[in-house]
Amino acid sequence: MRKVFLALFLLQLTICNAQAPEKWSSAEIYEHIKKLNFLGSVLYVAAHPDDENTRLISYFSNDVHARTAYLALTRGDGGQNLIGPELREELGLIRTQELLEARKIDGGYQFFSRANDFGYSKNPTETLQFWDKEEVLSDIVWVIRKFQPDVIINRFDHRTPGSTHGHHTTSAILSVEAFDMAVNTENFPEQLKFVDTYQPKRLFFNTSPWFYGGNEAFQEADKSNFVSFDTGTYFPVQGLSNPEIASLSRSQHKSQGFGSTGSRGSEMEYLELLKGDKPSDQDVFDGIDTSWSRLDNGKEIGKLLASVENEFDFEHPEKSLEKLLQAYKLIGKLQDEHWKNIKLAEIKEIIYACSGLFLEASTGQPSATASETLPLKLEAINRSNAAINLKKVLLNPGQTELTVNVDLENNKDWSSPVSYTIPKNANFTSPYWLKEPGTTGMYRVEDQQSRGLPEDKVQTTATFQLDINGTSLEFEKPIVYKFNDNVSGENYRNFEIVPMISVEFQDDVLIFNEEKPQTIRVELQSHNGAAKGKISLKAGKNWKIEPASQEFDITEKGGAVSVDFEVTPPAGQDETELTAEATVNDQSFSNSLKKIEYPHISNQNIIRPAKLKLVRLNIAKKGERIAYVPGAGDVVDESLRQIGYQVQKLEADDISASRLQNFDAVVLGIRAYNVDDALAFKQSALFDYVKNGGTLIVQYNTNRGLVTEDLAPFHLELSRDRVTEEDAEVTFIAPNHALLNVPNKLTKADFDGWVQERGLYFPGNWDDTFTPILSMHDQDESAKTGSLLVAQYGKGYFIYTGISFFRQLPAGVPGAYRLFANMISIGK
Ligand SMILES: [Zn+2]
Repeated sequence: MRKVFLALFLLQLTICNAQAPEKWSSAEIYEHIKKLNFLGSVLYVAAHPDDENTRLISYFSNDVHARTAYLALTRGDGGQNLIGPELREELGLIRTQELLEARKIDGGYQFFSRANDFGYSKNPTETLQFWDKEEVLSDIVWVIRKFQPDVIINRFDHRTPGSTHGHHTTSAILSVEAFDMAVNTENFPEQLKFVDTYQPKRLFFNTSPWFYGGNEAFQEADKSNFVSFDTGTYFPVQGLSNPEIASLSRSQHKSQGFGSTGSRGSEMEYLELLKGDKPSDQDVFDGIDTSWSRLDNGKEIGKLLASVENEFDFEHPEKSLEKLLQAYKLIGKLQDEHWKNIKLAEIKEIIYACSGLFLEASTGQPSATASETLPLKLEAINRSNAAINLKKVLLNPGQTELTVNVDLENNKDWSSPVSYTIPKNANFTSPYWLKEPGTTGMYRVEDQQSRGLPEDKVQTTATFQLDINGTSLEFEKPIVYKFNDNVSGENYRNFEIVPMISVEFQDDVLIFNEEKPQTIRVELQSHNGAAKGKISLKAGKNWKIEPASQEFDITEKGGAVSVDFEVTPPAGQDETELTAEATVNDQSFSNSLKKIEYPHISNQNIIRPAKLKLVRLNIAKKGERIAYVPGAGDVVDESLRQIGYQVQKLEADDISASRLQNFDAVVLGIRAYNVDDALAFKQSALFDYVKNGGTLIVQYNTNRGLVTEDLAPFHLELSRDRVTEEDAEVTFIAPNHALLNVPNKLTKADFDGWVQERGLYFPGNWDDTFTPILSMHDQDESAKTGSLLVAQYGKGYFIYTGISFFRQLPAGVPGAYRLFANMISIGK
């Protein structure tokens, strides 16, 4: 853990400027002209952020100059977070932004489906119990119809279920199905209001020696159906090799710790043809016209733009302006709406860069609320001899029109302060896919046009209407929050629309293990001016909240106050959701505002109803003092504190016989034996502690990379057995054992309402001294009995458990608490 925080600290010292506007050099303009002259598209399909082969994406984007996109079916919500505390949907948001940063580097586009990365699944059958197959297919078909790829490339093999994560194989299976579906009007006809049907030409699987179990087997594989090519190109214009660009892109996956070092030299890629005709050479676009001649009336545009490319003057890019403007007008007359829109957007950016334009609408404040009026600074400059007139600026939302009508003379900066009022009905800036509650496996997005998008289109924008040498052009720019920092200099951030008042609970879950009341604190913050009002809380009818409401007074913008309520739980076991409602001048506010800020991504807000899960537990426990030895990172110690244990963190280095004797139980955090080398030398101290009457509870470790093979005082061997269905039936195979009866009598009901999974990496082999307590298994699998093993050793007890308490306890699952309390209480 220490390492993580150090890394985080260092990271924050670096400049955060993910939002700074791009300013193309001549080399970048030239690259974009080459892309403008290539009319072919590739779509890469896989399951998670970081599945994508950035080398291949960069190759198609930078070498072939194709429009290249990555469709990740999920946002990677189920992964681990190496850079901060965010998990689940919040982590998915971070990983979404990391993918967008990766694409900025490799030049690709990014799409997602509504599928949620709910956690590990062994095969597609299991995956599709959570993902709604029709909805995910519909999203893939939608992306195909919208992006219109000539070629689709799957990262994974659709023919080998069970050989990798179920999400992986499912991504390939669904991509194969969607390849044939997109062309048929009977499939997802509701999409045809917005897009045409479409048939991609070829489908490939991006194979490699990994899929064959090694180089040797791969060398012998039948490659008659393969297309292979070298992706190790060196780009002198960029001073980088393609694999170096790919590594820079991959290194954006910082929350997963996927930093990657660049390589140089030849790197072969292999694509196995799955559908469509075999290309006659090693070119995936063979037989597909990727020139301007692909389009009716495209030839003339092609000729014009070929001369722009050939005559491009790196010292004077403005010399290309006239021909670019001619081409712009011709593109505007194309019949093909799809290519017309793509190429108009591309050529506009090239015209912008060639004329040395810089257009910006900035504000010195990070956010604003509906109805707020704020000062903006508009800036415009032309660094060319072109005759450019800035006619109007349109501010949105609200369509505020500002007439300017000023000639932008070469290198004369124009700027103007304006005031802009955010409309009353403006939406908050918050990710579209987190607005409605979804299911475990799916996000809910009602708006068809939002589906597939990596993030919301920026809603606060300034559209600059220009006349360039007699041609009318519009440039839409986001309104940016811009400030100077004495250390890092110029800084850009996303500008956000936020609620006037946000309310926040301190926790997500609060446990009541007795009937006595607890104090619950709510924090209110004003994001506009001073605010005076009332706040009340709401919970299920068995829960008593006092007082009914309270007044608050925030004296300034940005100011916050805390208000305490006393909540008394019912006598029996119960759960409820606590919500808050603040009222100011008859307007009500019940949303929390979560900010996510890291230097490598643009800042994000999540605005959603504030809520706190309250759990009244019927729990008995023995023993009081617990030592918690941290592992790879979990909050089980916090959860145990919530039910009244005194928990002390004990670093492995500090483990000694004398330290241990003070504790009723010692609990090891998850994967402690995978991450803490010091533990290898502490086993005798821990086992002696057990021998003398202590209880040692070891939570799950993975079977690879253990710091010691001797995890227990008796033989114990880990396997990869896991039960991923969180509702898998649990059978008591030692029904009379203390772990199931004392002090809490457990029943099947205690295994209801579990989240994500039952457990993982159960032992597969163990000494007869161990008593297995529970049996469980996923559908169509054999019974797994290693989830909870207990053995008496000397006067004490050793317990090994792969049950995912680290997920259940923070989620407030009552049965998991009762079982954990029994484990701590054993022998007392
Ligand atoms: Zn993956």
